[in-house]
Amino acid sequence: MAEYGGGGGRIGTLAIHAGQEPDPSTGAIMTPVFQTSTYVQAKPGEHRGFEYSRTRNPTRDALEANLAALEGARFGLCFGSGCAAASAVMHCLSAGDHVLVAADVYGGTFRVFDKVFSRGGIRFDFLDFTDPAAVEAALRPETKVLWLETPSNPMLMVLDIPRLAALGRKRGIAVVVDNTFATPCLQRPLDLGADLVVHSTTKYLGGHSDVVGGAILTRDPEWHRRLAFVQNAVGAVPGPWDCFLALRGTKTLHLRMERHCSNAMAVARRLEEHPRIAKVIYPGLESHPQHALAKAQMRGFGGMITCVVDAPLEEVRTILGRFRLFSLAESLGGVESLIEHPAIMTHASVPRENREKLGILDGLIRLSVGVEDVEDLIADVERALG
Ligand SMILES: *Cc1c(COP(=O)(O)O)cnc(C)c1O
Repeated sequence: MAEYGGGGGRIGTLAIHAGQEPDPSTGAIMTPVFQTSTYVQAKPGEHRGFEYSRTRNPTRDALEANLAALEGARFGLCFGSGCAAASAVMHCLSAGDHVLVAADVYGGTFRVFDKVFSRGGIRFDFLDFTDPAAVEAALRPETKVLWLETPSNPMLMVLDIPRLAALGRKRGIAVVVDNTFATPCLQRPLDLGADLVVHSTTKYLGGHSDVVGGAILTRDPEWHRRLAFVQNAVGAVPGPWDCFLALRGTKTLHLRMERHCSNAMAVARRLEEHPRIAKVIYPGLESHPQHALAKAQMRGFGGMITCVVDAPLEEVRTILGRFRLFSLAESLGGVESLIEHPAIMTHASVPRENREKLGILDGLIRLSVGVEDVEDLIADVERALG
């Protein structure tokens, strides 16, 4: 429900101050956790903007305004998870509408589109968005949304946001960018022409692996109106504690992202030299197929690295078991380093045939490089690879 009124500032200043006012009743500098479901009215219908916490809660308002400011949006809406945020966009569509989705999207996004919303008659096509001509050819009169994720998960493909946004604009199709991997510190899709930005705040925005959440940010009052209606009507809202934790996370986003980027670059360079590694995919490396595009639309290359270990599956399992600092876990974007095996773990819900087409092979591992001391991270990688 929150609208960000501006006030300006650069991203680090916004991260700390946007949407944050000292509590008027006590002066508390931090937004309190408004752990309340309802609000007392002076007379029937006479209230201070808050009636019921599914509709609006002051802690959630503060987070929504903060995230809107970071993305350069006017409006922010928060949800109980990133998947709930993606679902809210789909709840704005109707049976018969068509959505074009970048092939390499987050596994949970693929699953909710393919297994839940397709049952309601929304049609989805998944295709390679690195070829804008193919995207244009796949558009239909009933196409309502272009859904992209860049860099993507786990192949870290970089998609041309300005070009795809221009394509959408020309045809009146909404362009949605899942900006979870880059965060607004590294990439601002609305500035590049997108209509909506979607986040899993569970990842870098929260940043501490202690809360699950999602958000949608936009400049468009009409999209905001439709999405705010869905947020309240469907009710997949985050509780005030979760909003508080996410807000505590965003205050250090700019600091963490700097370190994620520099650590990941150093680890990627080391992996590139390692004889056991057949291939390293990191948008900051000159060897990345869209390195030039990444440099043009991003201010840094993020903390995610994907690489291919030159070994059969059994040996890859052994190597994964030898990491000590990188924990073997799903998820990403926290201060601590994680490692995972997409084919067995995060992308098991993607059919094998699609996985192989995307390049999610048995030797593929994904690293979420944390903000520890980089020498220790590199030592861990070298020990595990042997
Ligand atoms: C995790 C993730 C999601 C889903 O978010 P949840 O908070 O887990 O529901 C969506 N997109 C991307 C890129 C993600 O990494």
